[in-house]
Amino acid sequence: PVSCLPEQFLCCDRIAPHAFAHPTVPSVHPYVLVNYMGKPRDVMTLAHELGHGVHQVLAGAQGALMASTPLTLAETASVFGEMLTFRALLDQTKDKRERKAMLAQKVEDMINTVVRQIAFYEFERKVHTARKDGELTADDLGEMWLSVQTESLGPAIRISEGYETYWAYIPHFIHSPFYVYAYAFGDCLVNSLYAVYQKAEKGFQEKYFELLKAGGTKHHSELLAPFGLDATDPSFWAQGLSMIEGLIDELEALDKAA
Ligand SMILES: [Zn+2]
Repeated sequence: PVSCLPEQFLCCDRIAPHAFAHPTVPSVHPYVLVNYMGKPRDVMTLAHELGHGVHQVLAGAQGALMASTPLTLAETASVFGEMLTFRALLDQTKDKRERKAMLAQKVEDMINTVVRQIAFYEFERKVHTARKDGELTADDLGEMWLSVQTESLGPAIRISEGYETYWAYIPHFIHSPFYVYAYAFGDCLVNSLYAVYQKAEKGFQEKYFELLKAGGTKHHSELLAPFGLDATDPSFWAQGLSMIEGLIDELEALDKAA
């Protein structure tokens, strides 16, 4: 379906320029494009796009009208694939410096996906709320952008002059308003799901495949119920965020040991 196209491309703007998984139509296999340069990042991009591909193949049986997922689950299989691959790579890495670099990269990615995208979302809310009362100037937009960025980045980051126009580099604000929440939602959802997986819950794989096969036919509440997860429960999000916390702890412990 045509509607998948901008989302798939946008999704992959975060991951890497010019990487995507395109579902085409359910009667043929999806197409994955990546630019593989041999860096660890490229391995993660490949895992991400193949995650989309697996999701697209499994959901294909729902047919062209119902195969594509709602935004809430659009990044589930891709981010889960990244997490599995990251853990497998980290387990194989014994060198302390390499482990540190990998963990630091992952933590940065997660902060970008969760904290930064939430700040983007807050910016959009501010803009759209203010727009109800009249047209906004570029200065107004810059002011809202700076207020949100200052809050989300915190005192450790110095914001230079000229940054007030940087809202303009996010294509989502124009092409898919409020899409940014899907990254934060998807990442936290996957973290909670991964926590269930880590506890080696019986039948996880079967349930996970069922979730992916559902495509766009079910609401996330229905799909998460078999895992004992409920996105309306604050502990669901706390569990996801504790995954990020755990990785930061791991990184800090390595730093102290060094
Ligand atoms: Zn993606």
